[in-house]
Amino acid sequence: MLAIKDVDTAGDWGNSALVSVDLDDSWCYLRTHGEQNWQTTPSVLSVATDRLVPFFAHLGIRVTVFAVGRDAEVGAGREAVCAFFESGHEVANHSMNHRFDLARLSPSEMSNDIARSADAIATATGVVPVGFRCPSFGSGETLHQVLAAQKYAYDASLLPTSLGPILRWYHRRTMSRATRESIGSPELFGPAADALLPLTPFRWSWDGGELLEIPVTTMPVLRTPMHMSYLHALTEKAPGLASAYLRLGLRLSSRWKIPMSFLIHPPDIIDRHDAPDLAYLPGMRRPWQEKLDYVRRTLLEITETREQMTHAQFADRCDDRRHGSHHQGFELE
Ligand SMILES: [Zn+2]
Repeated sequence: MLAIKDVDTAGDWGNSALVSVDLDDSWCYLRTHGEQNWQTTPSVLSVATDRLVPFFAHLGIRVTVFAVGRDAEVGAGREAVCAFFESGHEVANHSMNHRFDLARLSPSEMSNDIARSADAIATATGVVPVGFRCPSFGSGETLHQVLAAQKYAYDASLLPTSLGPILRWYHRRTMSRATRESIGSPELFGPAADALLPLTPFRWSWDGGELLEIPVTTMPVLRTPMHMSYLHALTEKAPGLASAYLRLGLRLSSRWKIPMSFLIHPPDIIDRHDAPDLAYLPGMRRPWQEKLDYVRRTLLEITETREQMTHAQFADRCDDRRHGSHHQGFELE
C-alpha cells in the first residue's frame, strides 16, 4: 500500500529556493508532440547552455539540471551536461529517452531506462546522479520503488497542479489530427489527483521502502503552475497580472513554509530563430534577450529573501531534520 508520511509542514522551507532546468532538447518536444522530424531536428542544447551557464554565474545561483541520458552520451548534449557540471551545478537524471509514458512502463523496462541514463550522466561528469525527474511529470508506485532500489536520494517529478486536464487539452489541441490519433492520449502533467498532494517535501512510503519527494511548487490553494513557461505565457496575455501572480505565489509560499522549487526549460530562453521547429510553442515569437531578462527579474525576486540551493543540498537538509519536528502522514488507499 502506497502512503505518504513525514509531510514536513513545520520546517522553515519558506526561506528556500530551488531552481532547476529540465535540459529537454528540441527532439524531446517534437517527439512528445508526435512530430515525424524529431530525430533530425537541430539541437538547442548548445545555445541554451551558452546562455544559461554565464547567466547563473552572474546571478550566483547553483541550479539542478535534469539531463536526458541519450543526450548526455555524445556531442552537444554531453558538452552541455559537462559545462553545467563544471560550473558547479548539480546534474540529476531525467531518464534515458524522455518517454512521456515512462511511469507506465514495466518495472524492468523502467529500471533499465533510468539506470542507463544514470550511467551516461556518470560517464560524462564522473558523478552518479542522486535525483530524478520523470518526463511529463509522471509518477507512481513502480517509479518510486525503482528509484529507491537504485538508491536515489530524492524524486522531483511531482507537479501538484489542478490544471493537468486543461494543460493536456491545450497540448493536444496544438497537434495535428493525425498525430493525435497516432499517439493516443499521453499522460502529461500528472494525474488530476496529484493536485491534492502536499507542496512541502514528504516521503512516499510502502512496505519495505520509502522515497523523498520534492514537488515542483504550484500556487498554494489554487494549485495553478508557477514555473517559468507558465509565467511567460501569462505575461504575454497580461504583464501586470503575471507579476502580481508571482508575488502572490511567493507570499503564500513563504507564509505556509513551502519551498520555492522553480522550473526553467530551454524554450524559456530561446526564440523561433534559434529553433524554427519549436515555433509552435507559446512565447517563441518574443526575442530571446527579452525572455532571458524576464527570467533574470523572476529569479532575483525569488532569491531575494530565500536561500538558494540545489535539490541534492535540499534533500540533505530534509534528511537532517527527519527526527526533529512535527511530521504527519496519511494513507493513500
Ligand atoms: Zn522533460
